[in-house]
This record gives sequence, structure tokens and C-alpha cells, in this order.
Amino acid sequence: MQDNTQSLMLSNDRSSDSGRPGILASLILDAFAPHYCIVCGRKIIRLEGAAGVPLCEDCLEELPAAPAHRCGICGKELFAEEGTCYSCRTTERSFDEVYSLYRYRDTPALLVRGYKMAKRHSLAGFWADRLEAVIRERWPDHVVVPVPPRPEKRKSREWDQVEAVAAQLGKRGICVRRVLLRLPNEEQKKLTREGRKSNAEKGYAFDPSCNEKAPSHVLLLDDIFTTGATAEACAKALRGKGSEDIVVLVLAMD
Ligand SMILES: [Zn+2]
Ligand SMILES: [Zn+2]
Repeated sequence: MQDNTQSLMLSNDRSSDSGRPGILASLILDAFAPHYCIVCGRKIIRLEGAAGVPLCEDCLEELPAAPAHRCGICGKELFAEEGTCYSCRTTERSFDEVYSLYRYRDTPALLVRGYKMAKRHSLAGFWADRLEAVIRERWPDHVVVPVPPRPEKRKSREWDQVEAVAAQLGKRGICVRRVLLRLPNEEQKKLTREGRKSNAEKGYAFDPSCNEKAPSHVLLLDDIFTTGATAEACAKALRGKGSEDIVVLVLAMD
């Protein structure tokens, strides 16, 4: 219900000025014609290992990498600044670094929304392929800890976009530990920026029923990094239980 309402609000997205269909149009196209590229409309020839990705070979190749000149802590793109962004220099962070596969715009934003809101579940494998490559190269000894879904979502066993990627990573032999718990709270997306921050801060805890210690080297997995409030709350909960090195790993960042 919630996801449907949200997908109807996607029409005023920022890709609409780039001369191609907006996100809503692309998602509708994808739902009715899943064998055509959501960016250029060409028929998709299935690529090995890329099953379920609604992009043609050319558009898949053109996926923009995250910016090279970015904040050493939160990963945001830097323009006039050097090293770390203003926000990270003035705010205390419980995590050490954020790594994002993509910027949350253009084609990657389409893919994230297609995955999360239009529930194109098969994209979980696409994200996991990319994350696995980065994890093996940069953090082979870190343990993946997924950001947990809302309790109602967990209870109803509703599909969860973060858990689906975590499960795929587990299948690829990456160590995954579900040691966090989301406490009953208001939904983040209904709140203002400030509201999100204080809401998120009390929203997560180390799961006392998991019977595990907090891993010392963590890759905190989430779908999108926006304000960093969720990452901060989760990292704080992990640090409180002894985690030392915490890298936030996301599919896309604003
Ligand atoms: Zn294409
Ligand atoms: Zn920063």
C-alpha cells in the first residue's frame, strides 16, 4: 500500500530534465514491457550474470561511477572543499566511512527505485554482484550487518530490499550477521530532516536475542544514504557493543 502511494509520487523526479522518460514512466514501462531497456527503450539481450537488470548492454555499461572527489567520511561529492565535507567536520560520526556504488540520480536512481518501490526483486542479484566485488577487494575481513526493517515488516515477513541483498551476499560466501534490531518507531519517510535524525537515533539497538558479539569490523548495509541518520544510529548501537571499524555500504547516495 505504502509503496504504491509512493511510486505515484515519483513523477516530479530530477531525471525529468535529462530528456528521457521520468522515473514513473520508466517504472510503468518496465512493469508492462520487462524486456525493454528502461533508459533507451531498446530490446534487452540478456547478459550473463545480469538477469533481471532492466537495462540494455550499452546503458548498463554507462552506469556512472560514484564521484572520485568525495568526502573521506560520508562519501558526498566535494566541490570547493578538500578532504572532508563541512557536515562531517562539524558533526560527530559513529561510522568511519561511507561507500556507495552509485549516486542516487539518473539511471542508478531508476534501478534503485525499480528495485525498492516497483519491487523488481531479481535486481537483488545485480546489487550483490557489484557489492561482492568491492567487498572482496577492499574489505575481505569485514562482516556485513544489514540495517533491519521495521518490526511490522519483519513480523509480516514482507519482502525487504536490504535483507534481500544481504541474503544474496550470504549465498556468495560473504559473512553476514543480523545483529541489529529496529525498535517500533515512526516511519522515517514521513518525517522532516530534523525529525528523522532524532527518530532514527532511538530507532535501532543491538539485538539481545541474537546471542552473538558485535563484529569488530563491520560493513553496515543499507539501500540509500540520505541524511546519514539511520547509519549513525546503527553504527552507534554497534560501537556500544564493541565494533571498532564501521564502513557504511549503500547502493546509492544522495
Ligand atoms: Zn538502453
Ligand atoms: Zn562528509
